[in-house]
Amino acid sequence: MLSDQPVKLNTLHSPLFTQYGVSMHIARLDLLHPIVSGNKIFKLHYFIKEALKSSPKKIVTFGGAYSNHLVATAYYCQSLGIQCIGIVRGEKPAILSHTLMHCLDYGMELEYISRNDYTRTETNYTVFKEKYKDCTIVPEGGYSHWGAMGAAKIMDNEALHSATHICMAVGTATTLAGIVLNAKPTQEVIGIPVIKNMNDLPDRLSFLTNDSTKKIPSFFNDYHFGGYSKKTNELIEFMNAFYTEFDIPTDFVYTAKMCYGVLDKISEGYFPKGSKICCLHTGGLQGNASLSKGTLVF
Ligand SMILES: *Cc1c(COP(=O)(O)O)cnc(C)c1O
Repeated sequence: MLSDQPVKLNTLHSPLFTQYGVSMHIARLDLLHPIVSGNKIFKLHYFIKEALKSSPKKIVTFGGAYSNHLVATAYYCQSLGIQCIGIVRGEKPAILSHTLMHCLDYGMELEYISRNDYTRTETNYTVFKEKYKDCTIVPEGGYSHWGAMGAAKIMDNEALHSATHICMAVGTATTLAGIVLNAKPTQEVIGIPVIKNMNDLPDRLSFLTNDSTKKIPSFFNDYHFGGYSKKTNELIEFMNAFYTEFDIPTDFVYTAKMCYGVLDKISEGYFPKGSKICCLHTGGLQGNASLSKGTLVF
């Protein structure tokens, strides 16, 4: 399966890392596919396995018009002959986003519902469950214990076992929960929230891990750049400079904020000498298509 593939680790070189005595590595989950976010593939692992055992083989999931999760689900399902339906939040737009176009290309059937009906009230959810009772239902963003268990498979990669710190961007926190489930007690897991004021992270983690871990991650809370999918010129300049120096593209919603945060914390002396820092490049590069041409040098 796609979620059983090994992940490549790049080592970055810069005077900054030498100065602070740390080594810096990026796990390239983005290389699993040019459009599909790497972490989404892992989060889908157990849902896909379930759908493959079911009859009909059919998945239904949810997301907004720019959802990396929708594209990943469409792609993964198509590659295994699983039928899939994407419930899109909001009315059908006059011009489809790149994201929705990719979903259609991968054979996903799209259904648009009003924001009110989309809101996961008990009544709405019961209606969904009834309407799609023959399908495997994947929550938005894979946000569930199964999703976290799938993300935990990222840690099966030998290359991550010697890291002292494992860093990643946090949206729903499902990927973070998965890493927390499988990291060794000696490894520090660090989340960089891309949403402003995520005050419910402890609740999310206990839900996602089923309270089966005592490990508490660290958070770098000051790198959301104004909130979810918000950006500043400074962030865009950082993305271009990062690409020029390391030859690694990042996306403005998730991975650029993480990389910015980690480099900033290195320069503040957060990481002890001898640290082996490993950042998860979770992908998301298709999201950059919404920037105007020429904004990025890659
Ligand atoms: C969805 C996504 C994330 C966030 O993952 P969560 O498991 O929701 O926290 C991070 N990076 C990229 C590129 C993503 O698409």
